[in-house]
Amino acid sequence: MTEQRLPDPALVVLVGASGSGKSTWAEQRYRAAEVVSSDALRGVVGSGRHDLDASTEAFALLDQIVAGRVRRGLTTVVDTLGLDADRRRGYLDLGRRHGLPTVVVAFDVPPALCRQRNAVRDRPVPAPVLAQQLRTARSVVDALAGEGWDHVVVLTDDAPAPAAPEPAAT
Ligand code: ATP
Ligand code: MG
Repeated sequence: MTEQRLPDPALVVLVGASGSGKSTWAEQRYRAAEVVSSDALRGVVGSGRHDLDASTEAFALLDQIVAGRVRRGLTTVVDTLGLDADRRRGYLDLGRRHGLPTVVVAFDVPPALCRQRNAVRDRPVPAPVLAQQLRTARSVVDALAGEGWDHVVVLTDDAPAPAAPEPAAT
């Protein structure tokens, strides 16, 4: 299901290795306030977007912001790697509890493309780390259909992206 319009409001969880295009996709479709990014929050509580020492606090803030928005029924895009099954489960449960459609969007782009995009970034992820993320991402993509999301979108590089979200019918 690559062409269908995604529900809005919705809880949208992104999944994909570094450089797979998650933040770019979110930025093109959602308002900045709707996108909650672990990198951005590392920049808030740490020395910058790549300050891994700030991860614990950044994710605590992320969870708080996501919970606050979802509780209010606001569209929320969780922009993290999305590779941790327990974290995905937590978001899914949260969305369900508050009656928001739950959407997971996986960026199943060819590994070579990810490596290429990563290589030209300011702060490339070390190659072995990216390789591990790509392996994990592949297995997560296969698992998503069985996790219970209302919508599972798997974007490959050659597939058209879903259209922009449409407001819920009133
Ligand atoms: P991270 O997990 O590190 O935050 P990411 O998945 O958010 O990575 P992006 O920052 O969106 O990845 O994209 C990585 C790079 O790839 C950027 O330089 C971006 O401009 C480029 N890029 C992303 N999507 C596309 C696309 N559809 N076509 C061409 N280039 C793209
Ligand atoms: Mg990103």
